[in-house]
Amino acid sequence: MAQNSHIEWTDHTFNPWTGCTNISPGCDNCYAEAWSKRSGHVKWGNNPRKRTTEQYWKAPKIWNARSDLFEAAHGRRQRVFCASLADVFDNQADPVWRRDLFELIRATPALDWQLLTKRPQNIRKMLPRDWGDEGYPNVWLGFTAEDQARFQQRSSVIDQVPSTVWFVSYEPAIGPLRLEKRSPRPNWVIVGGESGHGARPMKAAWVRNIISDCRELGVAPFFKQWGSYKNNPLVTERGLEVERARLEDAHGKGGGMLDGELVREFPVRKVREVEEATAA
Ligand code: SF4
Repeated sequence: MAQNSHIEWTDHTFNPWTGCTNISPGCDNCYAEAWSKRSGHVKWGNNPRKRTTEQYWKAPKIWNARSDLFEAAHGRRQRVFCASLADVFDNQADPVWRRDLFELIRATPALDWQLLTKRPQNIRKMLPRDWGDEGYPNVWLGFTAEDQARFQQRSSVIDQVPSTVWFVSYEPAIGPLRLEKRSPRPNWVIVGGESGHGARPMKAAWVRNIISDCRELGVAPFFKQWGSYKNNPLVTERGLEVERARLEDAHGKGGGMLDGELVREFPVRKVREVEEATAA
């Protein structure tokens, strides 16, 4: 599925800049911070962010120009995850860079941009003036909620800011999370366990519960991975050796099957231009 990204729910990743500050329990084992230490590319924490190069910024326009080929091959639009090594709504990032990013987004209408943040409280004040009453048709807004408390703190933004798609990344899942009928409702929920050194455990019940809530409430669920085979119910419930579980379920890190099923749905995108054309 992925073209220039290994992430299962997108095709490309784009980082307009790099660098960030840990602000949430979900940041404790931040992949990007580990990358920054390894690469020496940027100093993590309250240090200047680093804009990526002009050459790098040209890539989305190339993907956009090739959209016909992609859509013919895959039968859908390309997705771009922004940003995996930074946070678009970081108040320590230069506002001019963010303005340039939204210009790039406007200039690439054939791409669906997935903007994921842990700072949803900043979204409204950092969106461009022409965001409008429905949001840009090619932008999906999302925030991370690693547990119930973080969902409760952050979810009001769904009702406050219009977006073509609202999504929640319940990854790394470090505690239970339930969606309730009366709580703000996203269109899409990504679920995943933490991976790597020092990863915190995820329980199978959390995954079953959130997917069941999604199905009941008409939210598209995307279960990415268990994070570790130590979390995978083939091991914890069926008692398989890790090596055997790996053979039965090789999806994502730690496997990605839930009770024999791959749960990887996407939200139905509102294509306003098409709806308007049909209505006319
Ligand atoms: S917000 Fe994201 S990029 Fe920033 S420190 Fe936390 S996990 Fe890392």
